[in-house]
Amino acid sequence: MTAPLEEWDLVVVGAGPAGSSAALGALARDPDLRVLLLDRSDFPRDKSCGDGIAPHVLDALAEVGAGDVVDDWTPLHRLELSRGTTTVEGPMRREVHVVPREVFDARLVERAVAAGAVLRRHRVGSVADGPDHVTVSGTIAARVVVAADGAHSAIRTGLLGRRRQPRALAIRGYAPTTPELAGRQVIRYGERRQPSYAWAFDRGDGLANVGYGELLPGENDRREAPSRRLLLEQLEILIPGTASTGSGWLGHHLPLSGWRWHQPDGAVLLVGDAAGLVNPMTGEGIYYAVATGIAAGRTAADCLAAGRPEASGARHRRDVRRMLGTHLKHTWTASRLSRSPVVVEAGIRAASRDRHAFDTLVELGLGDGRIDARLATGLLRGLVRRSDVHRPPMMETP
Ligand SMILES: Cc1cc2nc3c(=O)[nH]c(=O)nc-3n(C[C@H](O)[C@H](O)[C@H](O)COP(=O)(O)OP(=O)(O)OC[C@H]3O[C@@H](n4cnc5c(N)ncnc54)[C@H](O)[C@@H]3O)c2cc1C
Repeated sequence: MTAPLEEWDLVVVGAGPAGSSAALGALARDPDLRVLLLDRSDFPRDKSCGDGIAPHVLDALAEVGAGDVVDDWTPLHRLELSRGTTTVEGPMRREVHVVPREVFDARLVERAVAAGAVLRRHRVGSVADGPDHVTVSGTIAARVVVAADGAHSAIRTGLLGRRRQPRALAIRGYAPTTPELAGRQVIRYGERRQPSYAWAFDRGDGLANVGYGELLPGENDRREAPSRRLLLEQLEILIPGTASTGSGWLGHHLPLSGWRWHQPDGAVLLVGDAAGLVNPMTGEGIYYAVATGIAAGRTAADCLAAGRPEASGARHRRDVRRMLGTHLKHTWTASRLSRSPVVVEAGIRAASRDRHAFDTLVELGLGDGRIDARLATGLLRGLVRRSDVHRPPMMETP
């Protein structure tokens, strides 16, 4: 005899930022929904990440009552971007936070539980979308499932097959913040396969999140993936003193977003890394995770209220394409262009000449910005005027 299925309105697989946000989005719409949040790990848990929380993340979380989750962390106001001797350094229009994921993710899970979600440690083995419900791990019946199971999502592979998608590999650790790195986000592009860069993000508590990542070879590319040793060597070359003093190294893949975004019909909704949404220029994914998570939660609640859970996939596809579709095309274009180091340097020069170009690049890299005519013109000028290479940055101090 088969065991009776345990029934839930919404089951969220994965309790990272995408999954917690999905639970928050659904429960903000309908506090009476029965929401089960599953993760294979106990919280708090670590996650390999640069820990950079863009202001857009907090804007989105504010819509579900969680915009204050990092209020007690010191924000950063300045950004340095450089490749070789081409540099720009200046104030960002909006502050960013750098909060260890061990803290950030656990706080979001707490908020989701406080809103009514039930958290359970459980590794999901299978998800099957049937005519009446979605069966999770063979024993749980859900009317809608949100797949928030991260970069190696088995649910995504089950739904969409193994799609060719560019991936990057990055490693992060924590190093003491030196005066040179204090109070800013530092990004230094490297010489290897582009985009490749090292970063140092000051957490504001004496430690900086430091790391290095690069694009992985494509399927038909015979070059080997970079080793841990190579990643750390590159970090030390680009930001001396970080790899040699850092600890807590953790690497992970980043599924970089493409020109078009895919979500099948049905009652299983893809969000965050599981939806293949990481900014291909910068490796930022928390904003997409939170924004698509909240959108999926709302969609699930609305379709359940309408008695049409099976319509949720089509609606999620439409909503996410409306929210991010144009931006994804622009970041895809920018990331293709920036595979040329000459274009990266032209972008940095454009940003050092024009405050608007600087702000537009930040929006494109951290949030949902687009390439506009002024940035494109600045890039072209930067390409033509390569003689500016050694000119000092022109950004004003605040
Ligand atoms: C080195 C590095 C640096 C980065 N830096 C930044 C940055 O500074 N800023 C930024 O915005 N983004 C950054 N990113 C990207 C960011 O980390 C991800 O985009 C983000 O974590 C996506 O959130 P998520 O909730 O979709 O997935 P995750 O945070 O990966 O959460 C997925 C969850 O699913 C759970 N899970 C997986 N499989 C199962 C299963 N079978 N059953 C149950 N649970 C399961 C996991 O335990 C995990 O908790 C970086 C990534 C890397 C690798």
